[in-house]
Amino acid sequence: MIGPVPDLVIPVLAFLFLVVVPARFRKPLVESPDGKRNTEYCFLFRIFAPKLIVMALHPGVSLNIPETSKPRVVIIGGGFGGLYAAHKIDTSKFQVVLFDKRNYHTFQPLLYQVATAGLQGDAIAGPLRTVLKKKKDFHFRLLRVLSIDDKRQTVATSIGHLHYDYLIVANGCRSNFFGNKPMETYAFPIKSIPDALNLKSQLMQTFESASMINDPAMLEKILTIVIVGGGPTGVETAGALAELRKKVLTKDYPGIDFPECTSISCKAATTYWPACPKKQQTTPTRT
Ligand SMILES: Cc1cc2nc3c(=O)[nH]c(=O)nc-3n(C[C@H](O)[C@H](O)[C@H](O)COP(=O)(O)OP(=O)(O)OC[C@H]3O[C@@H](n4cnc5c(N)ncnc54)[C@H](O)[C@@H]3O)c2cc1C
Repeated sequence: MIGPVPDLVIPVLAFLFLVVVPARFRKPLVESPDGKRNTEYCFLFRIFAPKLIVMALHPGVSLNIPETSKPRVVIIGGGFGGLYAAHKIDTSKFQVVLFDKRNYHTFQPLLYQVATAGLQGDAIAGPLRTVLKKKKDFHFRLLRVLSIDDKRQTVATSIGHLHYDYLIVANGCRSNFFGNKPMETYAFPIKSIPDALNLKSQLMQTFESASMINDPAMLEKILTIVIVGGGPTGVETAGALAELRKKVLTKDYPGIDFPECTSISCKAATTYWPACPKKQQTTPTRT
């Protein structure tokens, strides 16, 4: 359980986040082989910087959830699970508080479209306040939940603690790399919109680099894309890349021989799309 944060910690963290670390890490993606981490850092920086400034200037900020005689339901996460719960709970009988580190719901099934430039990120993001604006005693707070104390029935967040009568934990999951360290270091997961934009950025920069390469072996090397996972997302991503190559890239980059752009999908299971009926399971390896 995390206790109250001493007043000095926030200004020190703000200084580190805003001055020291950015100077060390904020480099454009294209300049560094470690660029993926840098863009992730920049995204984290954009999320946390304004919050840290506010907290540094006003250490007295609080959650501002009104006291109530009704039982309080705290929901952690505004994904599919949390959003459904928030919709269904009758706010005339309960006070509902939703915490999420993002202020929007992500429609994850279409993340692969964002990653392959088929859709803009905001096309699959629904602002949580807008979606739930008709709810009366409903309170959304944009923050990160740090821990839960089930004995005291409190949730610790980056802004403060809140008591709950009922708690719904719907904070999703992380990508599982099954202990494969190189994959964890070098692969681009797609679990969130920032992840998808990161992958899209990497792909677009690769295509730009390809337009300046004359060596066919090198061209083949950088245009070979490996997709790890033969479930729905892996298969959909392979299809979207094939479509991108056929319909967009050949027109946008007339100088590049895009037939040499290959996506190879790998899998651990014996079939692709193992959750589907047998006749829909295929065994593609190259698209
Ligand atoms: C690429 C992809 C494609 C998919 N396609 C399909 C599909 O076609 N069909 C299908 O049925 N399912 C699909 N899924 C699975 C489906 O999206 C998930 O099962 C579903 O989103 C899980 O819902 P959830 O509410 O548990 O978590 P999520 O939807 O992941 O939501 C978790 C929420 O918790 C928030 N959160 C996490 N940690 C904290 C914290 N510490 N503090 C505050 N907030 C926090 C996050 O910001 C997020 O908003 C797909 C998933 C992915 C990644």
